[in-house]
Formats: sequence, structure tokens, C-alpha cells
Amino acid sequence: MVMAVTSDLQLAQWARVRSRLLEEFGEAAYRSWLSFLTLREVKDGIIRMEVPNRFLRDWVTVHYADRLRALWCGENRSVSRVEISVGQTKVEPQAKSIDVPAVAAPAVINGPATRQFSGNAGPAAGIDGDGRLEGQLDERFTFENFVVGKPNELAHAAARRVADVAVSPNHQVPFNPLFLYGGVGLGKTHLMHAIAWHIRRYAPHRKVIYLSAETFMYQFIKALRYKDTMAFKDQFRSVDVLMIDDVQFISGKDATQEEFFHTFNALVDQNRQVVISADKSPSDLELEERMKSRLGWGLVADIHPTTYELRLGILQAKAEQRQQTVPQRVLEFLAHKITSNVRELEGALTRITAHAQLVNREITLESAQDVLHDLLRANDRRVTIEEIQKRVAEHFNIKLSEIHSARRARAVARPRQVAMYLSKQLTSRSLPEIGKKFGGRDHTTVIHAVKTIEALMANDRALAEDVELLRRMLES
Ligand code: ADP
Ligand code: MG
Repeated sequence: MVMAVTSDLQLAQWARVRSRLLEEFGEAAYRSWLSFLTLREVKDGIIRMEVPNRFLRDWVTVHYADRLRALWCGENRSVSRVEISVGQTKVEPQAKSIDVPAVAAPAVINGPATRQFSGNAGPAAGIDGDGRLEGQLDERFTFENFVVGKPNELAHAAARRVADVAVSPNHQVPFNPLFLYGGVGLGKTHLMHAIAWHIRRYAPHRKVIYLSAETFMYQFIKALRYKDTMAFKDQFRSVDVLMIDDVQFISGKDATQEEFFHTFNALVDQNRQVVISADKSPSDLELEERMKSRLGWGLVADIHPTTYELRLGILQAKAEQRQQTVPQRVLEFLAHKITSNVRELEGALTRITAHAQLVNREITLESAQDVLHDLLRANDRRVTIEEIQKRVAEHFNIKLSEIHSARRARAVARPRQVAMYLSKQLTSRSLPEIGKKFGGRDHTTVIHAVKTIEALMANDRALAEDVELLRRMLES
């Protein structure tokens, strides 16, 4: 059996790369393709990975190699290439690495080298010999790349202000802490990294530490075990800006909560900037009362779910960054359909552009729908045909059963057509599927309904408004 030549650090990096892949491509794609990847070796800037057969090798290489390489580079700057080959072993020698928590030392971005903590003695488990720690900062997460819209404008402005003040000669901390909160994939980590990059660029002598709450806990527990808590505390002593991401993970863990609280208080008392993120507001976190109230002392900025306009703006910016021509119609379609979070939106764009390159064809609405089939379904769960029928019936004041019935009177036929039209627009169900849900009608009836409503809307203002109103209600 070929043993993998990998260190704990590399396994931890790989664990993070994997979790990003999972997030970006979704569970189905991950399970079908990416879960077969095994890390074999990291040497001379080349990451060697294996999969069990040729088909998987080709598929993964074509579809995911670029992203895999980019993610690896994010972890380890010296990576220049990722090679995927067919391996003979089925059972992974380092399968246990799956349980290794994805942790790393804090990214000390600037300032004097700080002592690092590593659970295992020996250099391999630490950070690269030359102390290259910025690996954790995603280089795409800058202010330049952040698209501002209504849902995130407060958080953005606050982050910007923290960054600007931190690089100004007399840095009077504007609000402490800055507490950013919002759902998954809405840009919290992006904004924190952006602050770090900004300071790094304009005031490289300032010391910034960015770390996830998980890393904080992990290191603290290690320090306790190795009776090295003094050194643990020392690394935060001279920091100018401390950013801790995802503090909801600190909930409930007593000793770490306490330590986090002390560290936090000490820094705030010394007028050092602290930036915190979480998926909940301070008062909703599972923390001690005093901690919660302290976290809310500064500025609490929430990031709201994206709007259609913001999603479209983000897609346009990302397509441009990648120098990829994507028809406006396709972008609008994506902004319309993929509403869960920005990460999924990006993943969708990546997928359709990769597919277009692979088959060497232009991107069309049809190809996009095809490639994103599973994703669209997942996003669909929000609006169901049943919901549409219910709302439409209510709106036009008819019985739900009449939507399914065969009655042709205009008073019921029109609302039924509106419901069919909206089902086509707001879900990714096929025409026959929609027909089936409307009392077992044929797909041609659905096509007819869609065309009729489209034509009517062009001339009948009142109907167009009805439809628009219903759409908004259903989407909110
Ligand atoms: P969170 O930390 O809130 O879960 P992230 O910061 O990791 O979310 O964002 C998820 C992805 O979406 C990242 O790739 C990020 O760059 C992107 N993203 C989120 N919001 C924006 C935005 N307003 N403009 C550009 N990209 C964004
Ligand atoms: Mg995050």
C-alpha cells in the first residue's frame, strides 16, 4: 500500500479545501465526484491527489481542477499545480484525516512574528518554516470585489470605516467591537478578509490577526493541555486588530468562552479594534449574558438576505472578473432562481462557465438550466406549486379546488393560467410536471397558459400588476 506523504498541517489544509468544495459545489456533486479524492503527496509545490478510476480522474480534472488548485493556493501559496491520478488503493490510509478538525494557527497578517501553537511537536505540524501564515486569507475577498447593495450596505460601510481608521496615523477606534452578523454565505468572512487586506496594503506594520472561533478554541485547548496559556495570551497582546469569525461556535464551551471573554475585554480596554462575526445577533447567541451584552456595545451590523438587484450585480461583477461573457438573460435567470446565498450563486456561475468551456459552446439559457438542474431544484424548495395555487386562488377569490377543476369559465380559467405561468416562472418543474399538478392537464395546456398570460400582460396593465404582486409575495 502506498502511504501518503502528508503532514498534519497538510491534512488540515486539505480538510479545509474539502469543506470549501462541499460548500461551493453542493452535497450531491461533492458526494458523486469530489469525495473520492485522496491527498497523496505535497512536494515542490505540486499537490498529488488520487481517485479510484480513470473516469473519475477525467471528470474531476475537467470540472474541478481549476477550483481545486485555487483553493489549494489559498491554503498554501507555494502550490503551483494539482495533479490528479488513478490510484490502486481503495481504502485511504489517511482516512482518519476526515475527522481531523479543520484548524490552523491564526493568520497573523502583519507585524512581528508571533509564536505559533501546534498540538504536535515537530515542525511539520506547525506553519511553514518561513512563517507564511497569510494562507488563510482568500485573495479574492477584497473591498474591490465586494458588491454593495441595500442588504449589506451598513456592514460594508462599517467594515470600510474600521479598515480606514486602522490605517490612518491616529487610529481612534470608531466602534468596538464591530459585530457583523447574517446568514450563511452573505459575505461576513469576505468583509473581514477585506479589512485585513486593506490594512496589509496600507499599513503593513499594524498587526492584524484573523481567525475563526473554532481555531481560537482549538488553540486555547491545546495551550491548556500543554500548559502554555501564557504564550497563547501573548500572541494577542500586541495585536492592533483582532478578528474572530463565526463566534457562534464558541457557544456553550465554558473555559473557552471565559478565555474569549478575557481576551476580548483586555483588547477593548486597550482600545484595540475587535471585529466579530456570527450567524446570529449578540442577544441570540448561546453565551453568558454579560458576554452577549458586551458584544453588543459597539456597532452591530446585520447583513440581510440578498435582493434580486444585489444578486444580479454580484453576478455581473463576477462574470467580468473572470472575463467571461455570459448573456444578460442568463445572469438574470440565475439572479432570479438562486436566492439562497451568494456562495451558491457563485458556484452556479462557475459551473456554467466551466461547462461552456468544456463543450466549447456558448452559454445559453437552456444550457444553464441543464447544467444547474440539481441546484435549481434545491432553490426551488422555497416556492412550491401548491403555494402558488393557494396564493393565486386567494388573490382572485376563487376556491382552491377550482384551480384543479375542469371549469372553463373565464373567472376561474384566467387565475388558473396565472398560476401555471407563475409555476413555470418561479419553480424549475417541467411543463408536464406542472400540468399534472393542475388536475392532470397536458403540457400543451401549460404552454398555452404561459403564452396567453405573457400576451395579456403586455396590454393589460391590471393583470400585469396582479401577476407582479403575486410574484413578489411568493418570492418574499
Ligand atoms: P459568510 O462568511 O457570511 O458565510 P462569505 O464571506 O464566505 O460568507 O461569502 C460567500 C461567498 O460569497 C464568497 O465567495 C464571497 O466572496 C461571496 N460574496 C458574498 N457577498 C458578496 C458581495 N456582496 N459581493 C461579492 N461577493 C460576495
Ligand atoms: Mg464565513
